[in-house]
Amino acid sequence: MSLRLAIVGAGPSAFYCAHRVLSRVPAAVVHLYDRLWAPHGLVRYGVAPDHPEVKNCTHKFDETAQNPQFKFFGNVSLSERVPLANSLSIPLSSLFPHYTHLILAHGAGQSVQLTNLDPLHIHPTPTIHHYAYDFNWSWKCLSDVARLLLSDPDKLSPLDIPLHVIDQLKSSSIWHIDIVSRRGPLQLRELLNLPGASMDSIPPTLFPDLSSPGLSRQQSRILALLAKGSKNPPRSTPKTFSIRFLRSPRSSSSLDRTITYDLNTLDAHDRAQTTGESEMQRTDLIVTSLGYRSDHGWYDPSLGRSVRRIGALVKNVYTSGWAANGARGVLASTMYDAYSVADTLVADYVSGEAGAGGATAAGNPGTISVRLRRTGVPSFLREVSIQQGKRIVQYEQWKMIDEEETRRGQRIGKERERMRWEEVQEFLAQKSVQ
Ligand SMILES: Cc1cc2nc3c(=O)[nH]c(=O)nc-3n(C[C@H](O)[C@H](O)[C@H](O)COP(=O)(O)OP(=O)(O)OC[C@H]3O[C@@H](n4cnc5c(N)ncnc54)[C@H](O)[C@@H]3O)c2cc1C
Repeated sequence: MSLRLAIVGAGPSAFYCAHRVLSRVPAAVVHLYDRLWAPHGLVRYGVAPDHPEVKNCTHKFDETAQNPQFKFFGNVSLSERVPLANSLSIPLSSLFPHYTHLILAHGAGQSVQLTNLDPLHIHPTPTIHHYAYDFNWSWKCLSDVARLLLSDPDKLSPLDIPLHVIDQLKSSSIWHIDIVSRRGPLQLRELLNLPGASMDSIPPTLFPDLSSPGLSRQQSRILALLAKGSKNPPRSTPKTFSIRFLRSPRSSSSLDRTITYDLNTLDAHDRAQTTGESEMQRTDLIVTSLGYRSDHGWYDPSLGRSVRRIGALVKNVYTSGWAANGARGVLASTMYDAYSVADTLVADYVSGEAGAGGATAAGNPGTISVRLRRTGVPSFLREVSIQQGKRIVQYEQWKMIDEEETRRGQRIGKERERMRWEEVQEFLAQKSVQ
């Protein structure tokens, strides 16, 4: 049976999987489904706009998309949960009869929430508190956000940030940001070098002995950077920030605009333990950045490439990228993970180890071929699209939108000006794209 692969998600992991499978099995059919109308996942919606070079990987994704065996169906949500308002929604099981293999590459889209915070009114007033509960990605996200809020909006305006956001940044009266972390210091080099901002000094008692043999070279370098402080001396600039370690937010009150932290200490395994003491502080705005996790309803990540569903292993279903590993790793590690998942899938396919069961639970062997209509959309999907009155965006259409966004940006001296879904629909209608 020929290999027909559906991938849920069209982020980097999905594109790397698609590329690898098509290079190993050129006759394979590979279809990517994404609940967003634009492909590329967090490369479009996550990577900081002042790091445009990271987005160069999309050239590679464009190359993969040129393969005639490849198709992208954007604005299609495969979910048993509440779908996005504009997107067409189909259950995961509706793919089973049409494909022999399935890769879940839907990322780690569920953000971790704090339940005991009384959200303060969003006011563009002095202080932003940023909670970091987990080191890796929440730390990266919050340093990205803090850096952008502390940057000169005129320097950001040529980048991939919508004009209305630039306008908001220009009218913002934020002058100080506290970055709060329940554990100790990590890397923040770019924040420290911002031309228009300065960091409050970190109490020297928080720094271990930099020559301690327990520290890696990278850790020593980061600690030395933080101990040295920002390029601008503390409080020498209109905008300032501080990094406040060993604190966990306990509660907040919108009445007196305060936040209360539990103060922490680190145990022998570097886990944050409360000291029993607390600290109250005034604040005007809280931004949380607590990390992301994957929707585990679909599979048991401990099973690796196989998927547990309603108590049974589902053959020929694989997980890749942040969906498999949680919010861990950069594009390079996501690529290696995707390649290894694709290699496993291809090896299973070639050896026939996966047996007769297609990308399915019992009874649906994936034997119905995917019939593409004149529009390039599979028949079963086209029918649902008409029923739900929702548009599907294919890769050729995305490329037209991509070019239009770039054109609109160039007109006003920017890298690109992003279009809203309403504008996209209008634009595609003008181009008479069905
Ligand atoms: C703020 C931020 C900044 C980053 N900066 C960098 C950087 O500078 N350099 C770097 O190397 N890496 C960076 N990364 C990491 C990089 O973005 C990830 O490694 C990579 O995007 C993970 O790819 P993925 O395909 O697994 O997940 P994602 O990129 O999250 O893609 C998942 C896709 O699945 C889709 N999806 C989800 N649910 C469904 C569903 N039910 N049905 C259909 N589709 C669905 C989503 O819409 C999304 O398009 C950053 C990440 C973040 C969050």
